[in-house]
Amino acid sequence: LADVRKVYQTRGGEDVTAVRGVSLEVGSGELVALLGPSGCGKSTTLRMIAGLEELTSGDILIGGRSMVGLPPQRRNIGVAFENYALYPPLSVAQNITFGLRARKRQGWQQRLTEITERLDLVDILDDKPGGLSSGQKQRVALARAIARQPEVLLLDEPLSHLDAAQRDTTRRELRRLQQDLGYTTILVTHDQEEAISLADRVVVMRDGLIQQVGTPEEVYDDPANLFVADFVGEPP
Ligand code: ATP
Ligand code: MG
Repeated sequence: LADVRKVYQTRGGEDVTAVRGVSLEVGSGELVALLGPSGCGKSTTLRMIAGLEELTSGDILIGGRSMVGLPPQRRNIGVAFENYALYPPLSVAQNITFGLRARKRQGWQQRLTEITERLDLVDILDDKPGGLSSGQKQRVALARAIARQPEVLLLDEPLSHLDAAQRDTTRRELRRLQQDLGYTTILVTHDQEEAISLADRVVVMRDGLIQQVGTPEEVYDDPANLFVADFVGEPP
């Protein structure tokens, strides 16, 4: 991300600056967490990377290639966002494999089995999304994003609808999947524990600006300012 900015034009004619010049480099295979309070611009940043929101200015590059102007489906990105966007008429299995290109279908059955086992979805593969709990929906969305073997995985609050026990197991599984499969992942959360326990590096945001980028230890031990210290809190 190179000096990415986003100004929303609201219906009332006011401008809302959601992201005020964010620059960030994410290494291949790295898991980075965008962490910050509600309204600080985390989702907007993620949606711009996904191509769901246009940039007001700046540039987004993946593997050296600018994504600006490219539609979402041409970005080789897997997304699991808060509003899961599962297709109600399709089964869980169909939802997960939906839109996978033929080239990628090779071995997809085996991959599907592996992913669904790890995310505890095996028993509901033939179910329709309508009957699922929000935790299950969230895990289906996660499975769908991972199944595409994207260059970059974007997760917006991937654990928010899970209960404490599910959150623990899903968090562990997510970490393992990420390590085994080596996806470059950007995860958005307002939960400092989630960020700290999952991420290689944490990006603390406030009011559309990055406050600090560092390993979980660095953000804990050497917060850049009072806001970071307050928001991240004490090590568990
Ligand atoms: P949360 O933790 O609540 O999800 P967030 O960090 O993801 O918050 P964003 O959703 O990116 O925050 O919103 C950043 C700012 O942009 C907020 O002030 C929000 O009100 C504003 N905003 C977001 N989407 C729009 C939109 N479509 N039109 C106008 N303003 C918007
Ligand atoms: Mg958000």
